[in-house]
Amino acid sequence: METKAYLVHGKELDSLQYPEGCPLNTSRAGKACRMLASMNLLIGDGKEVVEPRRAERAELEKFHTARYLDALQRGAEGKMDEECFDMGLGTPDSPFFPDMYNYPAWGAGASLVAAELILDGAQVVFNPSGGFHHAAAELAGGFCYINDIVLASMLLADAGRKVMFIDIDVHHCDGVQDAFNVRNDIMTFSMHESGKTVFPGTGFVDDMGEGEGKGYSINVPLPVGVYDEAYEHVFKDLCSPLVGAFDPDVIVLEIGMDGLAGDPLAHLNLTNNSYADVISTVLGFGKPVLATGGGGYHVANTARGWALAWTVLSGESGFDDALLGLGGVMMESTDWQGGLRDRALVSYGSQRDSVDRELEQLTKDVKSKIFPLHGLC
Ligand SMILES: [Zn+2]
Repeated sequence: METKAYLVHGKELDSLQYPEGCPLNTSRAGKACRMLASMNLLIGDGKEVVEPRRAERAELEKFHTARYLDALQRGAEGKMDEECFDMGLGTPDSPFFPDMYNYPAWGAGASLVAAELILDGAQVVFNPSGGFHHAAAELAGGFCYINDIVLASMLLADAGRKVMFIDIDVHHCDGVQDAFNVRNDIMTFSMHESGKTVFPGTGFVDDMGEGEGKGYSINVPLPVGVYDEAYEHVFKDLCSPLVGAFDPDVIVLEIGMDGLAGDPLAHLNLTNNSYADVISTVLGFGKPVLATGGGGYHVANTARGWALAWTVLSGESGFDDALLGLGGVMMESTDWQGGLRDRALVSYGSQRDSVDRELEQLTKDVKSKIFPLHGLC
């Protein structure tokens, strides 16, 4: 059978680790793969796992400066200096650790493999060990050292592809937006919890790109407490017309799972059902999709969310996942043993009303500022 969907994962991405106690846990991707394998949903029927590679230094220099990559390397060897600190290294959210060059280089290599597969004609590729959207050319931040999304998008754009980057991580994709802020051949669309309440404090509606890129950076800063139906509605209402107007050749999709209720670093009220819904909507645009992981600091929920994401990305969404919690399947989660999908979350009328009011204003604001720039009204 012809391969329809590729997942990029290998032993290096499983074994290299951030330091003990760091909220970002690199075991999430491997856990998702093992969960899928135990359910017979990882490979077969048009699904394939491909090996990543470590990105070459020259590939990393397409975006990051030599000075910064040298500093990463020195930090990895335990030689910290003032220049390292100036570039955001050595903070609680970008700590020094032995694999601080190696792991991001493998993560970036995996996203480059994904981009190469897309250029070879693949329709769907997923790198759950990618999505480091905060890293800038010369600055680490938010557990991100090397921006694999920028590198993969540049590879696609350099090959003449029009790229739409859609980010559903709970944090604003500041590193990616900054990289493409003045370009109109790469559109970025980010739905995130407002910078008023979480890191990195950016990504407001007025922050819409500059020069030729004006209107090509779209930010949808969400209020605390957004719930599934509201989230799905806003995504369809705003993203679908923009995809239609921009008409990209390829979609890069960052699937950070930190929007899930209970994530220790954010305050949205989503279940993974809304992630599945948004991924289905994105597949429905009919473009090749390069999907990555991203944030997600409740390890078990994130792994299960990405396992569910793979079933949707690989076209398994028709399976009866109510059955998947049966038969002794090990879910690696103490929260819920009923399948890959979360239970629906109850939210109360007054909470919904206040979220709904804020979202109505927000969507009006985005539409009035962005839509006319793309011939939409
Ligand atoms: Zn995040």
